[in-house]
Amino acid sequence: MYDVVVVGTRCAGAATAMLLAGMGHDVVAVDKAPLPSDTLSTHGIARGGVVQLSRWGLLDRVLASRAPAVTYVMFDLQGQAKVRRIKPRAGVDVLVAPRRRLLDSLLADAAVESGAELRTGLTATGVLRSDDGRVTGVVGLSANGDRVELPARIVVGADGRRSRMAGYFGARTLEEFTSPCAVFYTYVTGLGSDTYEFHIAPDTFAGVFPTHDGAACVWLIRPTPLLDPVRTAGSGRIAAFVDELERLVPDLGRRVRAGRITERVRGTADLPNYLRQSHGPGWALVGDAGYHRDPITGHGITDAFRDAELLATAIDRSLHEPSVELAAMTSYQETRNAMAREIFDVTRALTAFPPPDRFVELQLQLSEALEREADQLASFPALSTQPASSAA
Ligand SMILES: Cc1cc2nc3c(=O)[nH]c(=O)nc-3n(C[C@H](O)[C@H](O)[C@H](O)COP(=O)(O)OP(=O)(O)OC[C@H]3O[C@@H](n4cnc5c(N)ncnc54)[C@H](O)[C@@H]3O)c2cc1C
Repeated sequence: MYDVVVVGTRCAGAATAMLLAGMGHDVVAVDKAPLPSDTLSTHGIARGGVVQLSRWGLLDRVLASRAPAVTYVMFDLQGQAKVRRIKPRAGVDVLVAPRRRLLDSLLADAAVESGAELRTGLTATGVLRSDDGRVTGVVGLSANGDRVELPARIVVGADGRRSRMAGYFGARTLEEFTSPCAVFYTYVTGLGSDTYEFHIAPDTFAGVFPTHDGAACVWLIRPTPLLDPVRTAGSGRIAAFVDELERLVPDLGRRVRAGRITERVRGTADLPNYLRQSHGPGWALVGDAGYHRDPITGHGITDAFRDAELLATAIDRSLHEPSVELAAMTSYQETRNAMAREIFDVTRALTAFPPPDRFVELQLQLSEALEREADQLASFPALSTQPASSAA
C-alpha cells in the first residue's frame, strides 16, 4: 500500500511526486512513456514557473543543462519592436525555455532523489475502489502486458489533457470552451537570440523561445482555417511554415529562412480549454488533467508547477489527518480556480484574435497577471522540506 500513486510523470506528475516524497510520503509515479522523451509542446516558461523551479532548488540544474538564461523580452507590433530587460522580481531575473525531454527528466530525477519510486512503461487502465466507492489504487498494464495493481491512500491523475484518469474518477467538467486557433512550431539554429520574442500582426501571433544547443523554438499561432496552408502541406510543411512566417512577420521569417531548421514542424488545432472537478474520495487531478487552457498564453508548465505544490500540500495535510481531507482538497481546487481565473479569461479572449491593438492590450493585461502570480508563488509558505536541494 503506497501513500500516493501518481499517474503521469512530466511537469505536473513528477513535481507532485517530488514534493510529496520530499515531505516523507511513500510515493510511486508511473508513466506509459519512456523518459527522457519529448512531448507536443513549446516550452517558454513564464516567470511564475521559473519561481517554482527556483524555490524547489531546480533552476540551477535547468541552467546547468545549458538551457540559455533568457534576459530580454521583445514585443513587436507589425514591425514596431520594443525590447525590455527582465527585471528582478519574485526572486528571479531570468526566464528559461528548456526542451521538454530535459525538463521532464530533470523533474523525474528529482522525484527519485526525494525518495519516489518511478515506473515508466506502465499504463494505467483503471482504478481500484472500496465498497463505499472510494478510490483505493490504480490498475495498469506493464510493458510486457502484465496486469499490475498499485493500492494507495490517494491516487493522483497527472496524465495530461487527454486524461483517462479523469474519466475513471468520474470528474465533472466545471467550465469549457474550444479554441478556434491552431499552433505550429519548429526549431531553428542561427537566430542568435537571448530574447523571448513575441510578434503581433492581424490574426497572427508568432514567437521565439531560445533553447538548448544554439536552437530556438519558433512558433506561429493563427485562427485555425488561416493555418490550413501549413496544416495541409504534407511533406512540404517546413516550406509552408517558413513561407507563412515570411508573409506575416517578414523580419522573423527572413531570419528563419537564413537559419537552419533542425526538426519537423509539429502542431495542433482547436484545443479544449476546461476547468475540471479536481478531487473526490481518494483521488485528485493535477496539471492539464484538471485544468487546461490554450498555449497562446504559454502557461501550462507554470500551471502544472503551481498546482503540484497546492495539491502536494493538500495531500500532505490529508495523509497526516484524514478528517481534514475534504477541506484540504476543496481548498486546493478553490485556490487553483481563483489563481487560474484571470489567465483563463485572457486566454479565451486572445484565442478569438481581436484586432492587433486589442490583442496588445490583452497581452499587457496578461503580463501584469503573470507578474502578480509570480509574486504570489514566491510568497507561498516554505515547504516542509526542500526536496531536490537537500538530496543534492
Ligand atoms: C503546442 C503546445 C505548445 C505549448 N507551449 C507551452 C509553452 O510555451 N509554455 C508552457 O508553459 N506550456 C506550454 N504548453 C502546455 C504544456 O505543454 C502543458 O500544460 C504541460 O505539458 C502539462 O503537463 P502535465 O504534466 O499536466 O501533462 P503532460 O505533459 O501531457 O504529461 C502527461 C503524462 O501522462 C502520461 N500518461 C497519459 N496517460 C497515461 C496512462 N493511462 N498511464 C500512464 N501514463 C499516462 C503521458 O505519457 C505523459 O507523459 C503547450 C502545449 C501545447 C500542446
